[in-house]
Amino acid sequence: MITRLSQLFLRTLRDDPADAEVASHKLLVRAGYVRRIAPGVYSWLPLGLRVLREVERVVREEMNAIGAQEILLPALLPREPYETSNRWTEYGAGLFRLKDRKGNDYMLGPTHEELFALTVKGEYNSYKDFPVTLYQVQTKYRDEERPRAGILRGREFVMKDSYSFDLTDEGLAASYQAHRDAYERILARLGVKYVIVSATSGAMGGSASEEFLAESEIGEDTYVRCLESGYAANVEAVKTLAPAALPIEGQSEATVYDTPDTPTIDSLVGWANATTGVAEKVGHTVTGADTLKNIVVKTRVPGGEWELLAIGIPGDREVDEKRLEAALEPAEYVLVTETDFKNNPFLVKGYIGPKALQSNGVRYLVDPRVVDGTSWITGADEEGKHVVGLVAGRDFTPDGTIEAAEVRDGDPSPDGAGPLVAARGIEVGHVFQLGRKYTDAFEVNVLGENGKPVRPTMGSYGIGVSRLVAVIAEQQHDDKGLRWPAEVSPANVHLVIANKDDAAREGAEALAAQLDKAGLSVILDDRKASPGVKFKDSELLGVPLVVVVGRGYADGNVELRDRFTGESREVPAETALDEVLAIVRG
Ligand code: ATP
Ligand code: MG
Repeated sequence: MITRLSQLFLRTLRDDPADAEVASHKLLVRAGYVRRIAPGVYSWLPLGLRVLREVERVVREEMNAIGAQEILLPALLPREPYETSNRWTEYGAGLFRLKDRKGNDYMLGPTHEELFALTVKGEYNSYKDFPVTLYQVQTKYRDEERPRAGILRGREFVMKDSYSFDLTDEGLAASYQAHRDAYERILARLGVKYVIVSATSGAMGGSASEEFLAESEIGEDTYVRCLESGYAANVEAVKTLAPAALPIEGQSEATVYDTPDTPTIDSLVGWANATTGVAEKVGHTVTGADTLKNIVVKTRVPGGEWELLAIGIPGDREVDEKRLEAALEPAEYVLVTETDFKNNPFLVKGYIGPKALQSNGVRYLVDPRVVDGTSWITGADEEGKHVVGLVAGRDFTPDGTIEAAEVRDGDPSPDGAGPLVAARGIEVGHVFQLGRKYTDAFEVNVLGENGKPVRPTMGSYGIGVSRLVAVIAEQQHDDKGLRWPAEVSPANVHLVIANKDDAAREGAEALAAQLDKAGLSVILDDRKASPGVKFKDSELLGVPLVVVVGRGYADGNVELRDRFTGESREVPAETALDEVLAIVRG
């Protein structure tokens, strides 16, 4: 196929769009690949659509290779199945909801576990039919709170979602592994640099779950790795390595001190080290890690009432909102307000302690480091007072633990193998063993080998097809523009006519025709524009191989430019076809 830039529906832009912060977003807009319609809603223009289709092709090839079968479900869905699974409520504000003319509730599908479970229930009824894996490449809708970076986090986006149905746990494990391997092959073919991390399963429930994170500093996911053991996890999934419990016997009594003007951890630590007897009681110079700060939030399970929840974490750490969110899911949380303090006078701001919380029936969850026998400096529930030597398991008994504290570079790996190092990534894929959550909800039963009904177990696997276009752009671009790996490039060759001479023009046309005949796709810059403009556009558009029919043509030469390395070389025009074919066919 020959695509003439003189005809192509394309306008490249010299300036970055005002709303763009990350490179991929700027470049995809400037190069005329996508255009914004509304926050998180984008149109695909010809070249962008080609890249999107190439990513889809790679994903389909690898899905088909593991025996997954493609189907297509609607994006417009009735409420009922999601009511049955409780996700109509659980999804909260993230769901696009609408009504039809008769007043019935509908929604735009954010993910399709319910519908796939129902689809399999509708067609299959015997153990002989299993295992089966179905997938679709489909437009999804999520009313994201913060749509971001163009197509990277859209409110409308393309996802490949697949679902495996097995009758045994071993079968599910095998389907999961097949998907995991397929995702590795997909990302390798797309040239994406990534890590696989253990994940929390989020709103979908279930057990074994891993995310594929594309390495990127602009990523919204923070993950940690232990270089010694290879352990890698999304911070939301990191389980704190809890120390062993300490003996309670022999620990000194808790003592309440007047600590005027110590509402912050820093001021409290300052007071402790300046006050005779405190450091002695603690046994060392006091740091923030010796203090226990108690944060009060309100939580609500979907459809339920707001309740107070107190979280105790070592004072040298902050609460990580994402970890807290993941720990509480599907319940949501908000911070307490002045009104809440007024309504609950036992909450003394800056001086909240376990005692008042527990005697007033507030659920109290602590960081896993707060094991029995650990001794803390914490609030004494009175303005200007703290207690020193409050021992867990003796002076207070939390209702449980919670993974809400930030994970830091250098924290010990949960497997005890060494320190953790943190980095950022963009989630491009997610695989997980769902189990029977949805087959239970929809009572999917099939006839077992022994005549008894069996309930299939599910896996659910998503890959962000449109997001991958942005991720590839983000990882591969340089300061001049986009750079597409050959597998997804909108064309095999970008052929620039940079010579006004008729002979050169004819030579370029002939070369384009030969390449086309050989089955290659060619972007032919046949516009009446200066070579400088054309070269700039070739760099911006990012086809990996640029062929220039320029000044050298008079001497019988054309130039081959490698968009990735920036290297160029002259070759005789008559060997250009073979040279290009050799490069493209590898
Ligand atoms: P994120 O944490 O980035 O919001 P998620 O955990 O909600 O993603 P899944 O529900 O696991 O995502 O969806 C599967 C895949 O779909 C993700 O791995 C990601 O690649 C893609 N995806 C999810 N949300 C979006 C979005 N708003 N825009 C583009 N792609 C998305
Ligand atoms: Mg996910």
